[in-house]
Amino acid sequence: MYKLNEKIRELTPYDPIKGDYKIRLDANESFLKIPEHIKTKIDNKLSDISYNRYPDPLATEISETFAKLFSLETKNIVAGNGSDELIALLFTGFVMKGDKFATFENDFSMYRFYGSLSECEGILIPKNEDFTIDVDKSIEMCKNNNVKLLIFSNPCNPTSLGLTKEKVLNIVSSLPETLVIADEAYMDFWNESIISEIENYSNLLLLKTCSKAFGMAALRVGFAIGNETLIKAIKAIKSPYNLNSYSQAMATVVLEHKEEIDSALDCILKSKEEMQIALKSLEQEDFVVLDSVTNFIVIKTSRAEEIFKYLLQNSIAVRCFKTFLRITAGTKEENAETIKCIKNFLDK
Ligand SMILES: *Cc1c(COP(=O)(O)O)cnc(C)c1O
Repeated sequence: MYKLNEKIRELTPYDPIKGDYKIRLDANESFLKIPEHIKTKIDNKLSDISYNRYPDPLATEISETFAKLFSLETKNIVAGNGSDELIALLFTGFVMKGDKFATFENDFSMYRFYGSLSECEGILIPKNEDFTIDVDKSIEMCKNNNVKLLIFSNPCNPTSLGLTKEKVLNIVSSLPETLVIADEAYMDFWNESIISEIENYSNLLLLKTCSKAFGMAALRVGFAIGNETLIKAIKAIKSPYNLNSYSQAMATVVLEHKEEIDSALDCILKSKEEMQIALKSLEQEDFVVLDSVTNFIVIKTSRAEEIFKYLLQNSIAVRCFKTFLRITAGTKEENAETIKCIKNFLDK
């Protein structure tokens, strides 16, 4: 009888919060819809696509548009089916069986997941009690373990905190033989990106996504950014037609609208700040709001699970971790209702 091998035997499919909730603040998506005039342009562009033809394997147009937006050259970019696909690819190609990779505890769970599929040993670098990172200790741990690949999100999902440019570059330059991957999925909400540094390091890769600040989670578009050697290697290992023609075309139109992107960003940041202030006003000994540099707020509390369930009963979905809650910034109304509900819980 056929038996699943041990690396996949215990796995279960990814299980996001299901059900019909009135308010969804659980996945860090943008709460903004694409403006109508951009939608019209998208519709026109889509009518030109040939159904019967494979997509552009190099995703030229979307890569050029993204490059322009971030003052990059296209040779430094490769597009993926979400940055999720790129994370999987990096573990497929850049480590060998038995190599060690490192990430932080806590950090984005996909790193560990794809790492374990690559049959590599994962080194989990602990964070401080307050979720900050001890950079020197982390570098030391990578060195001592001969880590081949270090991956982390900056700013961090799920903690909402970030490392400054200087600190990240210290990590990159201290570990010249380690591929250092900084996932800047939320950097559009902060201003400590090291995207302009990619040519200065042989071991630095960045990941970016259209799923968060750019409001296109449905399309599955992400990018890896790095020096030409690294990008060429990713292009060589990816599946040729990884990004479908529709997503390429639609995301291109959206990314051509810098003004609208910037005003959407302002709007999301304003929502985040308002939510942060409102939640801070509820602070107490066992309910601590972190200073977020992302589009979501983290509350440390031993009652995370209780609050999470109470919110669900009120048709509000947020994300629950053992000792904290993660709440995505939403519309004014969604924020107000969520905050009211949390206040009710705390007043009980
Ligand atoms: C949401 C998120 C991504 C985005 O993944 P996509 O596959 O591009 O949607 C990547 N990294 C982190 C840390 C995230 O939170």
